Amino acid sequence: SDHRLTYPTRPEDMDWSTFFPAFVADAQLDQRPDTAEGTESPAKLPPKKLTKEVEVVDIGCGFGGLLVALSPVMPDTLLLGMEIRSQVSEFVQDRIKALRIKDPGQKQFQNIGCLRANTMKFLPNFFRKAQLSKIFICFPDPHFKQRKHKARIVSTTLNSEYAYVLKPGGIVYTITDVEDLHKWMVQHLEAHPSFERIPEEEQEADACVQVMRTETEEGKKVERNKGPKFVALFRRMEDPPW
Ligand code: SAM
Repeated sequence: SDHRLTYPTRPEDMDWSTFFPAFVADAQLDQRPDTAEGTESPAKLPPKKLTKEVEVVDIGCGFGGLLVALSPVMPDTLLLGMEIRSQVSEFVQDRIKALRIKDPGQKQFQNIGCLRANTMKFLPNFFRKAQLSKIFICFPDPHFKQRKHKARIVSTTLNSEYAYVLKPGGIVYTITDVEDLHKWMVQHLEAHPSFERIPEEEQEADACVQVMRTETEEGKKVERNKGPKFVALFRRMEDPPW
């Protein structure tokens, strides 16, 4: 349940420094007021700033296979996995820590992080308008039964949130082995005024698509079972002039 989920009131209030310590702006550290006894408590301090913002989000990241695989593909971009199950998000956090330590130069895997969150509720609390360039939705829970469809991670309402946090030209990547869910996602995203489907030729030329097909844990399971994989990409369009 959500009652123990923490989230910032506004994106500016979010402290990303523990997720991406290698990207904390040095100058900011020096400017922070003295926290010695008798002075302002750390809780009141503004969050530490990063030199970059999170730009890529993996919704329902599971065990983090996509993050780990995309990390070297986009070394200068901050990628965040969001996962609702606390044990799973902690697993991914530990996985990232271990990968960072293992890298002799301590440079690799600094650009990925995992946050426990319910993306159906608090996305605009974490990201400002037009902050993101890519959103991945990989093998989301299908919620087969009609009365469970409202729990699906793609819906008219949620698509408006994705449109809000994505910049024009940004892309929503979807993949599933459930054909009915694929059709549902295509139908809902195509019907949304902010999104247009990306043609297959362009889709197949996108380097992230191959990674998405093969590197998530769920994708690997589907591979082992020789199941189908349905991919669809959608571009966030410019808002029409008023
Ligand atoms: N994307 C991963 C993959 O391809 O291996 C995991 C797929 S798994 C079938 C779906 C994941 O989404 C689960 O780990 C689940 O806990 C997570 N999830 C479901 N609803 C969520 C929500 N509202 N917010 C964040 N994560 C969610």
